[in-house]
Formats: sequence, structure tokens, C-alpha cells
Amino acid sequence: MGKLFVISGSSGVGKGTVINEFLKKHPDFKLSISCTTRKKRDGEENGVNYFFLSKDEFNICINNNEFLEWAEFSGNFYGTKKSFVEQCLNNGENLILEIDTKGALNVKKLMPEATLIFIAPPSFEELEARLRGRHTETEEAIQKRLASIKLEIENSKNYDYTVINDTVENAVKKIEEIALK
Ligand code: 5GP
Repeated sequence: MGKLFVISGSSGVGKGTVINEFLKKHPDFKLSISCTTRKKRDGEENGVNYFFLSKDEFNICINNNEFLEWAEFSGNFYGTKKSFVEQCLNNGENLILEIDTKGALNVKKLMPEATLIFIAPPSFEELEARLRGRHTETEEAIQKRLASIKLEIENSKNYDYTVINDTVENAVKKIEEIALK
């Protein structure tokens, strides 16, 4: 049986980079592919980044109890299929779910053997500076993000581990200590 890891972290925290670096070094781990109703972004592929579903298709999966967990973000739905997770673990593959904290805590309820890892910024102030440094969002959007980040940090108190992303290298090393033991 493979092992299940759930990694969450607020946007702007560099969680994607940390996970990608870890995956490059450890080919016996793979990233789960979620379902979503959001629009495909440039460069994304169905079945690679996400399984892109219509709202109707997503609702059918909810009604058939096919999701291990699902959540709604800014009008879009995201969910992890039970069958995907079971297949990977049964094949002996170690699986990483990159999902939000609410979804993660739901996974932990259903699969207590899952290891929950939260990737945190060195400080809330630094994360705020990073978000503002992107210069891509309005003040209102930034305020909304900061509020949701606070909630995620609050939820992360129930995680197994918090990894501070001071440098990518350090964060990857800490995840290795957790995941390879
Ligand atoms: P994005 O639209 O930028 O790809 O993802 C937005 C958010 O959805 C991210 O915080 C990501 O972690 C979360 N997410 C992606 N897939 C899932 C999923 O299957 N379940 C839950 N609960 N969140 C997900």
C-alpha cells in the first residue's frame, strides 16, 4: 500500500514550487489529479492538471458519493475522487493531495492514516508583502486573500506538521524528513 499525504498552504506561499521540487527528487511519489469545474488555464491539460468537469458532471459525482472530499472556491468546485486515491494507494504509489485546509481535515476524518502537512510563510507580514509584490491584484482581492489565509493558518493547527517555507531547499528537506521516515 502507498502512503497518503495532504499538503496545503496559502496562495503566495510557494507551495507549488516546494511540491514540484520534492516530486522531482522522489519519483515514487505522485501528485493526485483533482476534478474541477473551473475553466482550463493556458497550458493546462485535461487529465494532467485536473479532470475538467461541467457543473452537471460534478453534481452527479457528488450525488453518487464519488468524492473523498470536495469544496467550493470563488464559484468553482474542486474535488478528490475516492477511486483515484484508492487505485494509487493499492498500486503502492505514495500520493500527495494538494488541497485546501477544509478538504484536508475532511480527508483526515475519513482516512486517519493520512499525514497532513501545512506549508506556512515565515511570517504573515512577509506573505502579505509577497502578495502585494505580485502587483496583479486589486486591494479588495488582496484583502479577501489575506482573510482566507488567516482562516487556513487557523485550520492548520489541526495538521500533523507545519513546514515553514523560508527557502525551498529547507522546506523540501523537512518534507523529506516527514515523508521518508
Ligand atoms: P487553482 O484554481 O488555483 O488550481 O486551485 C485553487 C485552490 O483549490 C487551491 O488552494 C488548491 O489547493 C485547491 N484544490 C485543488 N484541488 C482540490 C481538491 O480536489 N479539493 C479541494 N478541497 N481543494 C482543491
